[in-house]
Amino acid sequence: MNRKYLVAAIVGFVLLALVPVFTHNPYYIHLVETIMIYAILLFGLDIVVGYTGQVSLGHAGLFGIGAYTAGVLFLKVGAPFWIILPASIAVTAVFGAVLALPALRVSGPYLAMVTLAFGTIIQILINEMTFLTEGPMGLKIPKPTVAGYKFDEQSFYWVVCAMTALSLLVVHRLLRSQLGRAFEALRGSPVASDCMGVSVYRYKVYAFVISAGFAGLAGCLYAYSEQYISPNTYNNELTVMFLLAIIMGGRKTRIGALLGATIIVLLPKLLDDLEMFRVVASGLAVLMLVGALIGVARQMTTFKTMAVPVVGTAALAAFAFWLDNITDWRLSIFGLMILFVVYYLQDGIVGFVRTLFARRGAAAPVHSASDVNTSADPIIRAVNADGEDLLVAKEVLMQFGGLKAINQVDLRIKRGTIHGLIGPNGSGKSTMMNVLTGIYVPTSGSIEFQGRSVVGRTSSDIALSGIARTFQNVQLFGEMSALQNVLVGLHHTFHSNFVDVALNTSRYVHEDEAATQRAMGLLNFVGLADLADEQARNLPYGKQRLLEIARALALDPQLLLLDEPAAGLTAPDIKELVLIIRKIRDHGITVILIEHHMDVVMSICDTVSVLDFGQKIAEGLPAQVQADEKVIEAYLGGTAA
Ligand code: ADP
Ligand code: MG
Repeated sequence: MNRKYLVAAIVGFVLLALVPVFTHNPYYIHLVETIMIYAILLFGLDIVVGYTGQVSLGHAGLFGIGAYTAGVLFLKVGAPFWIILPASIAVTAVFGAVLALPALRVSGPYLAMVTLAFGTIIQILINEMTFLTEGPMGLKIPKPTVAGYKFDEQSFYWVVCAMTALSLLVVHRLLRSQLGRAFEALRGSPVASDCMGVSVYRYKVYAFVISAGFAGLAGCLYAYSEQYISPNTYNNELTVMFLLAIIMGGRKTRIGALLGATIIVLLPKLLDDLEMFRVVASGLAVLMLVGALIGVARQMTTFKTMAVPVVGTAALAAFAFWLDNITDWRLSIFGLMILFVVYYLQDGIVGFVRTLFARRGAAAPVHSASDVNTSADPIIRAVNADGEDLLVAKEVLMQFGGLKAINQVDLRIKRGTIHGLIGPNGSGKSTMMNVLTGIYVPTSGSIEFQGRSVVGRTSSDIALSGIARTFQNVQLFGEMSALQNVLVGLHHTFHSNFVDVALNTSRYVHEDEAATQRAMGLLNFVGLADLADEQARNLPYGKQRLLEIARALALDPQLLLLDEPAAGLTAPDIKELVLIIRKIRDHGITVILIEHHMDVVMSICDTVSVLDFGQKIAEGLPAQVQADEKVIEAYLGGTAA
């Protein structure tokens, strides 16, 4: 499968490189060159938008910074091309970090607005800083000269071509590595990322910085390609176009980025030429009709769902012939196309094509239980179970407004035990776990884990120090495969950096192989090895809970917190789960178990603590607790209502 893509990419780039040989028309050469430059930017933008799921409307600004870094360095310093190129990347990457700051605080529409403001400010700065940028006059830059050789239109095209190929390679390697998984995990579940030791904070900044680096490279190439740059190129319209290109082409695919770039470069040209527009609109209408008929015939879709797109494209074609002047209608047509994409092509063109093909015979899974290397490293790292206190919480108070969700609770967890935490709904059990894992900072009280305070530390820091967890409301990285989910848990085993990943060094390759093997082992441990390549969101609920356990174990925890792992499981699955929890304990891993199934709690817990209205009302051996009058009353009183 990989090989197929590699061949396709090589063939594609050879064809692209041959464009100046086939046509000597500088207009077309320049058009393709612009598409490739935009594609480089979109590769980077997709990291932020497609993978981490953040909105950025600041990328036209970053693009401008790249272009102006090149322009200013050339005109004011006379720097050579081979310095200007990396400098543009570096300077823009620094601005990417600045753009990341709002993303750490806000999200959604607010983030869109702040990044839009960023882009506007950059444009204003370029306009106003005339001493550097010549303001609205713009800058002229000739094609670069390297080692005495002066590039012309044609040879510079090949530079852009090579840079696009290189960018594609780097982005591809980045996104399949632990870094790419970290970005994707952010989108899937920020809380779970943090609790797997993958700092949301850090990786959001990384994503923006790397993304900006690509925007800088694109900007620099653009400056040399156009040979003239002026501030009004880098406006909000361009930034919206970039975002549209990602959405239209399809998130999380490089082909989508290339397609998107082609569309945003060609569309304005198309809307300038009425004849061409008529041809394309009719072609589109016919394609849509044929596609719909095939779809309905194969029972992949219904008349009803296809009616609007078919009628819509037919209407567009009719409209094209009715028009006699297109310029007045450009923006309206553009707007309609956007609406169409947002309603009907939410996964972009590539996503749409993929679903069409996916229905015909699913791809064979790459991984299966038979791949699991049983002689490998121990799957679960055994820890010393010496019966000492592993975790000591004292007088923990967690207040939400006037509500004391946890009220002066003491908890002492002995190493190597399974410690049950029970109580009626709303008694504060999950809140306790959130406090232990740094999601909430307790209002007062102390928590020591292995002699070190947990209070005030970040979730990812606490996770890396040895506390792993699952969530009552399952928090998987839905779009990632089961295997990738576990690999996110193994993020801490990677020491290779961006350079290792980009160069595919042996350090990275070894780490990746080892991690994949362990991840398969962990999946096998919870009985999911045959579902390794399945997207997490497609797994049945019970399997999702098991996957969360495998992912948590990947962290090599000393302490594992399980929040209602049996909820929603069938009786045989619960039996399996009990065996798994026992095995985990036998490896020396301490477990805190929140559970409503009393038979489970009674059969595997060494100690049980009972919470009611945020207070600890009983603690002891399971049998003692079960016989405790306060406990019986709390349970009956709490559930009888
Ligand atoms: P349990 O897991 O035992 O069912 P929780 O710990 O989820 O209970 O909740 C305990 C109490 O704290 C509930 O009354 C809940 O509404 C409240 N609570 C939990 N988290 C928050 C929050 N972030 N803000 C306000 N109240 C909360
Ligand atoms: Mg709960």
